[in-house]
Amino acid sequence: MKRRAFLSGAALAVTGHAIGAEQSVVTPASGTINEKPRNTPVVQTVDVCVLGGSCTGVFAAVRAAQTGAKVAIIEKQNAFGGVATSGLVAIWHRLEDRKKKETIIGGLTKTMIDRLTKLNACNTKGFGRSYNLNTEELKIELDKLAGDHNITPYLHTYYASPLIENGKIQAVFIENKNGRQAIRAKVFIDATGDGDLSKDMGIPFAIRKGLQPPTTCSNIQGLPGNIQQLMRKHGKEFGLVKDNGWGTRIPGTKDVSMCALTHVFNTDASDAKQLTAAEIEGRRQVRAYMDIARKYGGKNNTPALLDLGSYIGIRETRSFTANYTLTEQDILSCKRFPDAIANGSYHIDVHDPKTGKFKFKEPRGAFYQIPLSTMVSNKADNVVMAGRMISTDRSAFGAIRVMVNLNQVGEAAGVTAALAVSGKKAVSKVDSAAVRKQLSKLGAVII
Ligand SMILES: Cc1cc2nc3c(=O)[nH]c(=O)nc-3n(C[C@H](O)[C@H](O)[C@H](O)COP(=O)(O)OP(=O)(O)OC[C@H]3O[C@@H](n4cnc5c(N)ncnc54)[C@H](O)[C@@H]3O)c2cc1C
Repeated sequence: MKRRAFLSGAALAVTGHAIGAEQSVVTPASGTINEKPRNTPVVQTVDVCVLGGSCTGVFAAVRAAQTGAKVAIIEKQNAFGGVATSGLVAIWHRLEDRKKKETIIGGLTKTMIDRLTKLNACNTKGFGRSYNLNTEELKIELDKLAGDHNITPYLHTYYASPLIENGKIQAVFIENKNGRQAIRAKVFIDATGDGDLSKDMGIPFAIRKGLQPPTTCSNIQGLPGNIQQLMRKHGKEFGLVKDNGWGTRIPGTKDVSMCALTHVFNTDASDAKQLTAAEIEGRRQVRAYMDIARKYGGKNNTPALLDLGSYIGIRETRSFTANYTLTEQDILSCKRFPDAIANGSYHIDVHDPKTGKFKFKEPRGAFYQIPLSTMVSNKADNVVMAGRMISTDRSAFGAIRVMVNLNQVGEAAGVTAALAVSGKKAVSKVDSAAVRKQLSKLGAVII
């Protein structure tokens, strides 16, 4: 389904953020405390430990397990799915190339679409079109998928820090209701979106000036069809700046829409203080457009706010430098890579950091590719990066960031991690031909 533009116009100015690894330095307001050393229980030893349980992370875990690894996955929310579920973002883009001739994406994305379709939880307008998902059903399917593959899940569990010895991560410290614990693994997959583990490992990263701003998403029943116009006309009265947004219908419902109608500008969501402020501002914005709908939506209009994302939808934070950095030119020219592990046809889509306007650039060929070398670094022997933090320039990021692309990145991360374990190799030394072969065997479209 195509996105509908809801709003247009100018918005708050963005100050931008410094480039480099110096951000998120905590300035002590009340001195420091020297914590006592402690013995931390090791709750599990596995081959592969995945941090972050979006579809990227779960698909990584499944592919690692199918390639012979013992796997654990850690997720700070109460459910798997990341932005798709806890953030309410309900659209997966097409699985076909831009000319609508060839299917270029298969694997676990297709598996999940098939499973959800059987539950009336996934709609599409046909070949070459996007998919609308009921992401509550997706949560349950992801539980089942992980369970079917004997993966140990840790929900409500936060990755806190690594134990690094001899230049390798030996274990990660996690925090949950049981307190602080450790998980030992041979290889770790960083699927935290923000690259929390990769940062701690010292893989170089940047926080680009003018990050794509985050959005608090909502599910609303009975929202007036002309809400964009109403917001444009009355937004100022309710403290909204001019902005751009979109929404889509939830499958299986008559009048429930998932709404991404605003942005929270000036936010680096990898900084705890800014993230807190953004959560509160994002919810305030939802209240503002609900109030507009209630006041100006017409007599018969009774909109009901059904859901807010469990957390604000974060588009962009840290961007890491791996062995190869994918560029705008690679996307636009649809460059082929010998180590390609994913194919994509979604265009470059950058949300302007000042106006929220969607800036599109269209690739010139049928599809582009994402190489494995954007996910591994010679600086980190036992970490594979999977998700929106992989190595790209700003523009290429605008294309690869969508879920049908990152799902494939997750699958490739799982296979790479498992092959690194079985071959006793650094992740950057794993033969990409072997990764491609195994992905293909498992049902991915490898070209
Ligand atoms: C508002 C919005 C609208 C979008 N619209 C679309 C769209 O229509 N279609 C589309 O395909 N894409 C869309 N995108 C882009 C896409 O959703 C994201 O780029 C993608 O989901 C990122 O996937 P990820 O796996 O890298 O990160 P995430 O989905 O953010 O997953 C990271 C996971 O790691 C967990 N985590 C993070 N830190 C820790 C920690 N320290 N310990 C434990 N767990 C941790 C998080 O809870 C989360 O589950 C949108 C994004 C936003 C924000």
